[in-house]
Amino acid sequence: MDTRINIDRLEKDIIELSQIGSTKGSGISRPSFSKSDLEAREWLKDRFQSAGLNVRQDGAGNIFGRIDGEGKTVMAGSHIDSVINGGMFDGPAGVLSALECLRRIQEENIPVAKPLEVASFTDEEGNLVGDFLGSRAFIGRLDRKILEEGVTQFGLPFSEILKGTEFTIDSIMNAYKDRPELDAFLEIHIEQGPVLEAEDISIGIVDRIAGKNHWLCSFLGKASHAGTTPFELRHDAFVGLSDFTLKATQHVATRHYGSMVTIGKVFVHPGAFSIVPGRTDFSLDFRSTSKDTLETIAKSLLEMADEVAATRGLEFSYKIIDTTEPIPVADRITNLLTEECGNLDYPILTLPSGAGHDTQILAEVTDSGLIFIPCEDGISHSPEENIKWEDLEKAANLLLHALVSLAV
Ligand SMILES: [Zn+2]
Repeated sequence: MDTRINIDRLEKDIIELSQIGSTKGSGISRPSFSKSDLEAREWLKDRFQSAGLNVRQDGAGNIFGRIDGEGKTVMAGSHIDSVINGGMFDGPAGVLSALECLRRIQEENIPVAKPLEVASFTDEEGNLVGDFLGSRAFIGRLDRKILEEGVTQFGLPFSEILKGTEFTIDSIMNAYKDRPELDAFLEIHIEQGPVLEAEDISIGIVDRIAGKNHWLCSFLGKASHAGTTPFELRHDAFVGLSDFTLKATQHVATRHYGSMVTIGKVFVHPGAFSIVPGRTDFSLDFRSTSKDTLETIAKSLLEMADEVAATRGLEFSYKIIDTTEPIPVADRITNLLTEECGNLDYPILTLPSGAGHDTQILAEVTDSGLIFIPCEDGISHSPEENIKWEDLEKAANLLLHALVSLAV
């Protein structure tokens, strides 16, 4: 097949969508169900309609554009929500590339038997109640309690956010019932890391996606006077956290290289010049592409935290906030993508993904694949996010060829 996508049209779409929710100099803020997101949804549905696709939306606000056919559905997509002050490619590159592929299939009357769909999933970025709200709803793996009791990062209960929309907790919980039977799912996404750019390769084929654990942890000590409490009598929660952070980082870096541990959010109480900290609350994020390693790391970190607590006269406690399982990408998909890159004469790099994507969730119900393109300096979730259009052109051509092969 010598059909190619139209990169000028795809570029125009991405730039046009980037105007919605954009604030001068501070990037794009388009969290799901915000005013800018609702505007972006209308724009997207309009684009799908103009492309001659059958548009539908499920109870979680996931938007689909479909070319009808016989048999199981071949789907491609990503998300159009963004983090606060995010960039224009994380998400839209995947949704709008898939749209462009379906447009080319229609325009060229390429014969396909199976139904084809472009998908845009709600709240991939987790601005509301944990990552992947839309794709989790789509596969029917959502905890109702989290929706009912969840408070968003904007300080409002999730139920309040829904009041401005046509969606309810019931409609979100039931979204999966509208799901067509799937044959495969593919997603183009920026790498959000530096590897492809450093290797000067336009296309990364992801062979496994890391699973993650998000815990909220605390060291509890005793607040006391910074001038009068001798070191040996202190129960300094911040010194405990510092000790733990260094030990945990060193442990994962030396024993489980390739896996990650990060403490990204720290509160020190009471938080004063002259008071020895009595308590620290902190986030603990650790990831691995291996399920066994993830379990081993969890066990080691717990032992380490208990040991630090015992040595320094503290108590350690933790609460599991979110977990995702590592997944290997189905051979059927990596083989197909590799073969199509051979046909198109595109060099590729096979690599793991340390970040989670909708693909990881979809992989629970169908064979799912992730295609990475380089992003400048590995930067994402920032107004500085940037790509080379020729990289996206190649990735979208690959997507087009893979979709046609899958849907024949
Ligand atoms: Zn994304």
